[in-house]
Order: sequence, then structure tokens, then C-alpha cells
Amino acid sequence: MTADLVIPADLLPADGRFGSGPSKIRPEAVDELAAAGRTLLGTSHRQAPVKHLVARIRAGLRELYALPDGYEVVLGNGGSTTFWDIAVSSLIDRRSAHGNFGEFSAKFAAAAKAAPYLQEPVVTSAPMGSIALPEPVDGVDLYAWAHNETSTGAIAPVSRIPADGLTVIDGTSAAGGVPVDISQTDVYYFAPQKNLGSDGGLWIALLSPAALDRVRRIAASDRWIPPTLSLATAVDNSVKDQTYNTPAVATLLLLANQLDWLNTSGGLAFAGARTSESSKRLYAWAEATEGPTPFVADPALRSPVIGTIDFADDIDAAWLATTLRRNGIVDTDPYRSLGRNQLRIGMFVNVDPDDITALTRCLDYLLERRG
Ligand SMILES: *Cc1c(COP(=O)(O)O)cnc(C)c1O
Repeated sequence: MTADLVIPADLLPADGRFGSGPSKIRPEAVDELAAAGRTLLGTSHRQAPVKHLVARIRAGLRELYALPDGYEVVLGNGGSTTFWDIAVSSLIDRRSAHGNFGEFSAKFAAAAKAAPYLQEPVVTSAPMGSIALPEPVDGVDLYAWAHNETSTGAIAPVSRIPADGLTVIDGTSAAGGVPVDISQTDVYYFAPQKNLGSDGGLWIALLSPAALDRVRRIAASDRWIPPTLSLATAVDNSVKDQTYNTPAVATLLLLANQLDWLNTSGGLAFAGARTSESSKRLYAWAEATEGPTPFVADPALRSPVIGTIDFADDIDAAWLATTLRRNGIVDTDPYRSLGRNQLRIGMFVNVDPDDITALTRCLDYLLERRG
């Protein structure tokens, strides 16, 4: 097979970044970053300019999610992976229940299972490419699942489980690209390197009054909580528009710019329409073309932001990804441990739907010429 196929320039997308995170950052955000290069960057996070930046992010998220009264925007360092440990330390009282349908939802369940002071979590699993929601169980005080499983491209509904207990949703790859009713959640957490068009290393959580009460109660108990995993400490700092320890100011600035753009463009309705348009184009191509097939069989569960496309056995998807990369179209590889003959396409809100169309034309070009 020829790895050196050159795709004609007129077929190429305007921007070749289709990664599932880190993902495409808008040039306008990078321009604001450059403009702040001698003012905000390299200045103290305890002084007004950086605190104003944190305030701009908190207000931007409040607007984007139309946060109900009493909800707080809380943030800290470490990304969504750190937030699982924070939830285990600061949110689960005795026992959690998890919907497990991919690598990310499984990792939170594994973190809860490993905590010596918690009971064995209840885990409801589904095959990869489908979804599983936790079931109501007596004695469970926290229900968790992912809004969008980035490893498989399956999207789940977000509405409360009819039971006592906090509803804690991993919104990492959905946040900023898929509408959600935050009143159906107690904690909606994410990191900004996906739809939110920034860099990694930060976690953000939208906390309900019930979640804030839980955080206070566990913080006052005799459980030992390392300070970096204390959600109570993060709340105390966030309401003062700061983080417990030093944040990456550049990440904050890119995030603030993206939130301004989303809010002035029409908010989550705009974002949802744009990602739906991109994904409609990708899945329609995969269904109409010989060789590719959407991995998620049920159209209702197909993610608008992460498209997973299987290929027939006689087509080498790894060759497609490598050849695309040589042509400047990057990060279309499948999630490592899924181990499928697949491409995974990030269709976050920053991706232009016309670039998804261009990508399908490039794939047609390669499929016709694979040797
Ligand atoms: C990317 C992702 C994570 C991990 O985020 P980090 O910031 O790398 O820790 C967790 N959950 C989901 C659903 C993700 O898409």
C-alpha cells in the first residue's frame, strides 16, 4: 500500500485538526493570547488581572449553562482525571453507582472501587458502542456516568435517576458542544481541551446546592482528604475567583475567549446545531459509502461530537489515519484500547462542518486509490 499518496489541495479541509482532545483551538483565541503576552501572561494569579480572568470564565459558564440559583462554578488544577479522585475523596459518602460504557466511565468506577473507606461500587455495564445508566439501589448516595463516552463515540441522556443520591456527570467531551439541562445534575464536570477550545490540565465543575452541602459535610467529617483533592478548598477559592494553587494562565485565557465566542454566537443552542450538522454529514457519508460503517449501531446513541467509523476488513484504517496525517489531517486514530479497525473523528464546536465534508472527500479519494 502506498503511504505517500498526496491528496489534491482542493480537497483538503481548511483546518486539519480532528482530534478528540487536545483539539482545534480557534486562531482568534490564540491572537488574544499573543496580545496578552506582555501583560497578563507571567503575572500573579493572586492579583486583580488574573482574578478578573477567572471571574470572566465563571460568569461565562454561568451564562452558557443558564445555571440555576445556588449552583456554583468551581475549578482547579489537574483535569477530569483528577476530578475522579476529588469525587472519591470529597463527594461519595459511602457507596456510588456507575454506568460503565467505555474507558472514561470505567476509570471513575475503578477509582471509587480502590478507595478503602468506601463500599464496593455498583457498576452497570454495557458493551462498547452502547450505553449503560446506573440503576437505583438502596444505600447508594452518588450516581455517575459520562454524558459522552469519548472512547467509543456513544452519547447518553442526562436526567436524574429516580432515587436519593447526587447525579454526577462526566461532561468532558460534551461540555460546550452538546446542550444539557444542568438542573438534572448535581455535578457536571469537564476539562477545557475539547469543545471548550483551550488546553488541558484544568478541571471545572458546576455544583448544585445539594452537592455543595455534601462537600461541606464530608469536609467536616473525620475522613482524611489531601488538600489538592479537597473540593471544599476548591469551592472556597473559586468563589474568590482564584484556584488553590497556581493555574496555567494561558489555559484560562484561551478558555475565556472560547466562552465569550460561544455566548455571543448563540450559546449551547448554537453549539449543538453546529456539532449536529458536522456529525450528520459524517454519519450520512459512512452509511452511504461502501466500506465505512458507524461503530455505534443505534443512531440515537451516535455522538454529535465524536464520530467512530469502522471499516471493512479489506480496508486498513491505520493506513488511512497515517496517510491523512502525511497530508496534514491529524489525530483521526481510534481510541487505543478499543482495538478496532476504526477512525475516530472529533467534531467539536470549533470544527467547521464544511471541513467534515472535506474530510469525507479526502477519505473517498484514499479509498478509491488504496492499492
Ligand atoms: C478526555 C476525557 C477525560 C480525561 O480528561 P483529562 O483532562 O485528560 O483528565 C475524562 N472523561 C472524558 C469523558 C473525556 O473525554
